[in-house]
Formats: sequence, structure tokens, C-alpha cells
Amino acid sequence: MTIPMATRRQLIGGAFAVPIALRTGKMQPVRADGGLQVVATFSILGDLVRNVGGDAITLQVIVGPDGDAHTFEPSPEQIGWIADADLIIENGLGFEPWLDDMVSASGSSASRVVATAAITPINRADEEDAEAHAEETVTGEEHDNHEEEGDHDHGEFDPHVWQDVQNAILQVGTIRDGLSGADPAQAARFAGNAEAYLIELQALDAWVRDAVESLPVDQRILFTSHDAFGYFAQAYGFTILGTALGAISTEAADPSAGEIARLIDAIKASGVPAIFLETNENDDLMEQIASDAGVTLAPPLHGDALTEADGVAATYIDLMRSNATTIVTSLGGTVPSA
Ligand code: ZN
Repeated sequence: MTIPMATRRQLIGGAFAVPIALRTGKMQPVRADGGLQVVATFSILGDLVRNVGGDAITLQVIVGPDGDAHTFEPSPEQIGWIADADLIIENGLGFEPWLDDMVSASGSSASRVVATAAITPINRADEEDAEAHAEETVTGEEHDNHEEEGDHDHGEFDPHVWQDVQNAILQVGTIRDGLSGADPAQAARFAGNAEAYLIELQALDAWVRDAVESLPVDQRILFTSHDAFGYFAQAYGFTILGTALGAISTEAADPSAGEIARLIDAIKASGVPAIFLETNENDDLMEQIASDAGVTLAPPLHGDALTEADGVAATYIDLMRSNATTIVTSLGGTVPSA
């Protein structure tokens, strides 16, 4: 793999490329050609990596803007990116079930960094129990949520960590350390980039908290289309009333008529003014639920992907601002100016 990759880099590097004959067999990647070859698995993680790596790395993002990592199928070109990579940065927690096969198919010997390594994940079983209790509290009804647990085969932990800014901050530290480990010569640059970005992320977290403060605690209730907002709820003090898809993955089957009726009752009983759709999700089902419950269907939240550059969530920071603004204003609060 080394020789073809070096040849390709030499071509890409143009006038600045270092001739192969001058290389001394060191493991260090060559700087003049774009630096460390990094693959990040999806758009949100890619933005974190881009902010830390800057122009000291060449970055490919597998599941791009508006893509759905849960249901992704790789192309041969993307398997080629993995083959050429020095470093693969993944979310982990079962978010990329296709990645191991891609790595095997590519023959890659790249190092892998699990960006969630420093994060305490939400256990899915606990999250489901909490949802069942929230629903019972508002409806006064008890139901057995456990009979459906056999349907969930998407992993034990909730992978959507980035919806809590403090988790993104932990990921940035892990990414910085991973990049520095793979390319120690650039460690000071990665550290400087990370430090500057972490200041922005701390300001973002404070802004989200200020926005949420405008909502009384009993109005902080989220009903969304899939389970992407458990970390947001945990971090910013929301109760998850339920999710239409009732599952961690967007691949889940639609709920039964009886289940939909129960969700509608729970929404009515909660008094929430709005429920939340996510981009790339089942609009018809959520429109039906909102209409039958007599509530507003809020503008789409950005769960698992950035938008294209001209969209409202083209960066992680914009994604969090957009989501917090949609959630807070749809539930009757106001957000501070940026
Ligand atoms: Zn998801």
C-alpha cells in the first residue's frame, strides 16, 4: 500500500512533492502534499476533525451532508479513501455498523480513533425506561414498554453524543490526541487549533444554556421522530416524551396504529405546543401525529447530519444553534442573540 499511496501523493503534491528517492523510509507522512490522510465517518464528526486538523491534514468524510449514517452503503471510491487513509476517525457506539466491513474490504492498515472514547454513553435500556415513565406521568396510564424491547437490535448505547456540546468538547480532545499520535510533528498545530475551537464550543454551550433558561422547566418536553436527542435532553434539562420511531436507528419500522394512538394521547396530555421532525425522516407519520394531537410540527431538527454549505446547519456550531433555536422557540421560549 505504501508505494501506490506515496506515488499518488506525489502527483497530488505537484511542485511541492518530495521525490520518493529522497524519502528515507521514515514513517512520518510527508508534509508538502497535504499532510496526514484522514477519513472521518460522517459530516458532524468531520467538522470537528476539520477544526482540529485544519490544513495540516487532508480530510475525506464518508457520509456527507444530509446523509444518513444509519442506513449508509459505501461506494468503491469511499472504500478507496479508507485504503489510502493514515487515520480513520469514527463515532463508535454502534453508529457506523458498515465501517468494519469497509476497512476489511479496503485492506487498510490505518489507525482508528473512536471519538466517543472519553464520553460516558447513555444506556439505551435506561433511556427507554425514562421515556415510558415520562409518558405514564403525563397520561396517568401505565403500559408495558418492555414487551417491545426485543425489537431493538441497534446496540446497547445511544450513539448521538454530539447533541450535548460538552460531549463535542470531549471529542475534540480525543481527536486532537489521535491526530497528534498519528503525526507528532504537527502536534503543536493540532493543539493550537483545538484550543481555539474549544473556546468557541464553550461559548456555544453557554449560549444553548441561556436559550433553554427562557423555558420554564415544565415546558422542556421533546417529542421527536427518532431517538437522536437523548444527550441534548440530558444536558439541557429536557424530558423526552417519546419518539415516533421508538428506536435508535432511522431504519426502524413505523409504529402500529395502537402505538400511534398512545403517542397522540401522550402528546395531548403533556400540553406541549409542538413536536419535532428531523431531516431525512418520516414526514408523513409525524405530520399525522401532530395533526391528530392538535400541535404544531416544528421545522426540522438536524439530528445526524450537517446540511450542505448553503443550509442552516453547515457546521456543528450552526447545527446546535439551529436545533436549540427551533426547540426553544417552538416550545414558547426566546433565544439570546448570537
Ligand atoms: Zn440517529
